[in-house]
Amino acid sequence: MTAQAVDQTILDIAREQVLDRGEALGYDHLVQVLQTSDDQLPELLALAHEVRMTYNGPDIEVEGIVSLKTGGCPEDCHFCSQSGQFTSPVRSVWLNIPELVRAAKQTRETGATEFCIVAAVRGPDERLMTQMREGVKAIHAEVDIQVAASLGMLTQEQVDDLRDMGVHRYNHNLEAARSYFPQVVTTHSYEERWDTCLMIKESGMELCCGGLVGMGETLEQRAELAAQLGELEPHEVPLNFLNPRPGTPFGDLPLMPANDALRTIAAFRLALPRTILRYAGGRELTLGDLGTRDGLTGGINAVIVGNYLTTLGRDPKEDLALLEDLKMPIKALNQTL
Ligand code: SF4
Repeated sequence: MTAQAVDQTILDIAREQVLDRGEALGYDHLVQVLQTSDDQLPELLALAHEVRMTYNGPDIEVEGIVSLKTGGCPEDCHFCSQSGQFTSPVRSVWLNIPELVRAAKQTRETGATEFCIVAAVRGPDERLMTQMREGVKAIHAEVDIQVAASLGMLTQEQVDDLRDMGVHRYNHNLEAARSYFPQVVTTHSYEERWDTCLMIKESGMELCCGGLVGMGETLEQRAELAAQLGELEPHEVPLNFLNPRPGTPFGDLPLMPANDALRTIAAFRLALPRTILRYAGGRELTLGDLGTRDGLTGGINAVIVGNYLTTLGRDPKEDLALLEDLKMPIKALNQTL
């Protein structure tokens, strides 16, 4: 069989299984998707877009994020400039409640329906939980927006507390495939992450769980991550492309080629037909303007506006103009409640 014939076969399988029947692709097929040629890329992206439109509709979910506590994290995730274990120049900074409310208001003004509060910690301590309690209450009193959180690994008690204080979605990424995880993090295990994710799912909060690609993983490990996320079935999957930060162990890795990044987006969509698939960190650098557009018509249906945690994202106006240009409506708040 020629390479073209192999590509065609996997695209036909994906069309029949995912688009027609709504069933996610498994690991072996995802490997084949990631092996498709550049010639097949437009067809692959068009298929992923059709899957997204069929099972999620045309709306794009917009989210803003704010860092409540930046830097000084005791963990050693090799991609992260917020780890206190490397020499990356991120200071430990805490935000106060009025600043948090102001950030939520600014986020709402962009049309975003989600406001995610993030802290660079292994897991929350009592001080952070108290700040969250006060912060979420103050935001809900003043701003019409849903509050999400990302505070690391949780105990069952903390899961219950966050749900009870009105956090409706919790982010905890798998980061990498199970088989690659020990090369990325040594201070906690993949299983610890998986367990927090399961607790979130069982609590009734929505689970937001994704990962990073372009960290030196093999193509098979990239498919493995997509399949493991498919097994977990999060409500939302943020997809990050490594932005190699100086001073981190992955600081010298090359950027992922744009076509590989686009194939990954399509593969994630085919592994997660009904999930919110969100552009997260690194996409400007990896994809540029043209590639960003291709991803939005290749399976992505959510974006983060404004600054990312440690690196500057794009001006929200640029993203909003692009969505308008693509005639993709922003998901309204009343549809998400
Ligand atoms: S990814 Fe999260 S847990 Fe890991 S070092 Fe960065 S802030 Fe800490």
